[in-house]
Amino acid sequence: MEKGNQIYEGKAKILYETEDPNLVIQYFKDDATAFNAQKKGTVADKGVMNNKISAKVFEFLQAEGIPTHFVEMLNEREMLVKRVEILQVEVIIRNIAAGSICRNLGVKEGLKFYEPVLEFCYKNDDFGDPLINSAHILAMELGTREEIAIIENYTYKINELMSRFFANLNLDLVDFKLEFGRCNGEIVLADEISPDTCRLWETGTGRKLDKDRFRHDLGNIEEAYQEVLERVSK
Ligand code: UDP
Repeated sequence: MEKGNQIYEGKAKILYETEDPNLVIQYFKDDATAFNAQKKGTVADKGVMNNKISAKVFEFLQAEGIPTHFVEMLNEREMLVKRVEILQVEVIIRNIAAGSICRNLGVKEGLKFYEPVLEFCYKNDDFGDPLINSAHILAMELGTREEIAIIENYTYKINELMSRFFANLNLDLVDFKLEFGRCNGEIVLADEISPDTCRLWETGTGRKLDKDRFRHDLGNIEEAYQEVLERVSK
């Protein structure tokens, strides 16, 4: 697939056109940002690892009946994906308390929630991706009532599937962020699913194998991502 013009550059990825108007190339960078890009750095080969981990997770979810933008991995840093219109909403689902919910609500890190917590955030860096609810989504025309219902259903289902997938690899899925897109009138899962977007704790030990190692300077970042890659590749 011939790489065309750059369409978009984000914090961790670049999108390129292809000769097919319905397909784009998603290139994974080594750049890392945290706390609304106040903290910046690079993690050696993060892009390679996230590309491969995302491909594995998308393949698994697709096989379980979740529509995704994933088409195929092209090489170490690039995957071919369907061109979608990304909704300006980030969907977060939490099984165990960590990160912003601890700061915002005073719950203790590690608290296992009685049921998963689904949150929406407005995808807007100028305002620090603030927490919103479905009324904001409707009022601001970020999505329709039907789209919200579909996204909620997919997100709960994806959480069940991914929790089982990672539990089999001896990893606890603490929380993660999803992005959805519109493609031919359908809602499909898009973006990436990697240790940049999921919190993963080793079962039993609680060892953090995700971006919190970068956020909080815990060291051994590359090793943590590599370990997740090895586990999903088995
Ligand atoms: N997350 C993400 N991108 C964002 C915000 C959050 O991938 O822009 C992921 C994050 O990695 C974690 C989950 O969503 O797995 C919940 O994030 P939280 O709100 O706790 O983020 P924090 O404020 O700790 O960065």
